[in-house]
Amino acid sequence: EEYIHTLRHGAIPSEKALRAILSIPYREKALVDQVRYRAMEVMEREVGNLVYYRGIVEFSNICTQNCRYCGIRRSNTHVSSRYLLDEEEIVESALWCAERGYGSVVLQSGERRDEAFIELVERIVKTIKERSRSTELPDGVGITLSVGEQTLETYRRFYNAGAHRYLLRIETSNPELFSAIHPPEQRFETRLQALHDLRKAGFQVGTGVMIGIPGQSIDMLARDILFFREIDVDMIGMGPYITHPDTPMAVQGMMEKEALLHLSLLMIAATRLALPDANIAATTALQALVPDGRERGLRFGANVTMPNITPLRVREAYRLYENKPCMNERKEACEACLAGRIASTGRSVGLNAWGDSPRFFKRK
Ligand code: SAM
Repeated sequence: EEYIHTLRHGAIPSEKALRAILSIPYREKALVDQVRYRAMEVMEREVGNLVYYRGIVEFSNICTQNCRYCGIRRSNTHVSSRYLLDEEEIVESALWCAERGYGSVVLQSGERRDEAFIELVERIVKTIKERSRSTELPDGVGITLSVGEQTLETYRRFYNAGAHRYLLRIETSNPELFSAIHPPEQRFETRLQALHDLRKAGFQVGTGVMIGIPGQSIDMLARDILFFREIDVDMIGMGPYITHPDTPMAVQGMMEKEALLHLSLLMIAATRLALPDANIAATTALQALVPDGRERGLRFGANVTMPNITPLRVREAYRLYENKPCMNERKEACEACLAGRIASTGRSVGLNAWGDSPRFFKRK
């Protein structure tokens, strides 16, 4: 309670305060509510009340990386099929978003670093930009890329093609835990360098962590939030870690769902308090825990959500974890469902605007 009192005075929470917030037990409803109200107050003051859509196209599940937790890791031979969508289909999906007033799209895929892939991404970004210019969006739809670790030169090429935001989760800011959940050739330092390179290339940078990784402590999560501040990110996307049966980490199990949801929501609120003007996403994985998971995230200080617009026939093949929601819903149905979910939180959708994070412009 002592810490929550300091929050009322607008202070950025210290590491101790972050630990205290993240340790609030589920049954302490009054304390949870205080943190939640405070996070919502800060959100409204700093980034406003609107919820921004990022239509996400998961355009390929072909991956050269072997993250030990991920369903589309290179070594998982049970993936139903490895696909790369047709260029025109990717472009059309993005244009569909622009027509519906979504200011922004996310193009996400498994990781490849070959020239053919890099050129493909460049071409797609350029085409989407050219074809999405309209009176509402004179500079075209906002494009966020999430295609993993690349070189600075590649990031520059993507930026010059017209993408302006990039998501690359650090997954955990604890180097030992990072090593435990990745194969030895995937190094923490490389991931960190990639985040710096993204900033150098001019991107608005988003990162995030998985919550509830086996071996992760409250202290580590508190330090994750301090890490977000240290590298001064513009956007944060965090979600619960959920097992996938065909991965090496499945044997270690996962946290019990209710406790995991509770911790994930406290992480969102604590992150909002620590980085008041960042964009924070209510991620899809929250909905894998409970049907209204994303709305709950929006009620704890998140201001962005990502409708899934990946073509239905490949959604099953992009299963990162068990129980991934919206596997059978057409994009129109996803949209209607999400609109209802957002309305249920008493907020409106920020249409026809990129909805950039104010944090980025303040730094500039
Ligand atoms: N390859 C790109 C990358 O790594 O940034 C983008 C795609 S990757 C599948 C997107 C995110 O999925 C990862 O950053 C990771 O946090 C998340 N993810 C993968 N497996 C997960 C799991 N089992 N539970 C929760 N999130 C998971």
